[in-house]
Amino acid sequence: MENLVLQKDKLPKLIEELSSNYVLYGPTEESGISLFKQIMNFEELNLENLLTSVSPKSLVFKQTETLFKFKPGRKGSVTSSEIYEEKSIIFAIRPCDAHSFKIIDPVFNGEFEDPFYISKRKNTVLIGLTCNNPERNCFCTSFDDNPGSTENVDILFTDLEDRFYVEVVTEKGKKLINSIENLFEKSTKNEEDSKKNIVTNSVERITRKMNLENLVTNLDKIFDHELWQNTAQKCIGCGICTYLCPTCHCFDMQDESSLREGARIRVWDSCMYPEYTHHASGHNPRAIRMSRVRNRIYHKFSYFPKNDDITACTGCGRCIDYCPVNIDIIDVIDKVGVIANE
Ligand code: SF4
Ligand code: SF4
Repeated sequence: MENLVLQKDKLPKLIEELSSNYVLYGPTEESGISLFKQIMNFEELNLENLLTSVSPKSLVFKQTETLFKFKPGRKGSVTSSEIYEEKSIIFAIRPCDAHSFKIIDPVFNGEFEDPFYISKRKNTVLIGLTCNNPERNCFCTSFDDNPGSTENVDILFTDLEDRFYVEVVTEKGKKLINSIENLFEKSTKNEEDSKKNIVTNSVERITRKMNLENLVTNLDKIFDHELWQNTAQKCIGCGICTYLCPTCHCFDMQDESSLREGARIRVWDSCMYPEYTHHASGHNPRAIRMSRVRNRIYHKFSYFPKNDDITACTGCGRCIDYCPVNIDIIDVIDKVGVIANE
């Protein structure tokens, strides 16, 4: 399908059309927090923030999700929760956040299949938005990604001031555009060139870089190094880095029940909490903070590449922006390189 143009004055109409036919999620604000929520009209949309504080993973991997309900006793029963079948759209997702789904898809749709996650992923169209002004701690380019990547989205919009350049990437995206094609015009070489310039400028503005060279081997060499204790001394174990990270996916199962009924609920958890690995026996293999801080780094940059051939970081920078004690994951990885080569 040819690429298209949407004039900016047609954006309200586009949002109206999409929100009346789909569950439409877009970046917005609630109590001063930027996040993705269902939006019903253009006014609710906030495209000013480059990255929402809360990543859009929460739309597919819910913070709390009831898997089934049960009633005990001889006439007891188990009722599975309905699998989500509604068609939805995540509008204005940034390329790094779209990349995060590629990382967590194998967790929920690999050796074990999670019907709740799979169904939401299958029924969701990702409409990306190119980043014209990357932020101070963005480093997506460290992972072969870029601020205008079409790699993990179905459609990509690029803001060209008075209009959007619209790239239709997948069959899913094409189907969506076909249903509202009257809103769009054909694009020209000018728009294509403008997008290329925007991406070139954005890439130049990304000054931070993570040193991934020999990282897996380097991490193997320094498992017992005092770097982890030194980093852990600063960490307060709040878990913010993991809750806001678009690739972190730890969860816990809770059975909430009264005498007559109950429910099994999946809730987000964090490997930065001691309870996360606390066994029923009382033993805790990661009882001290040092081992939890170290595990967070090894999980993303050693275990994931070894097991799934992908690094579990997108370079979004959220964990750097929001860590209350300024632990900077790029600096930690830099130190790994230096120490391993001493
Ligand atoms: S580890 Fe930090 S920079 Fe990497 S994806 Fe998670 S929040 Fe973003
Ligand atoms: S956000 Fe910072 S202080 Fe909080 S758990 Fe993560 S590394 Fe530790």
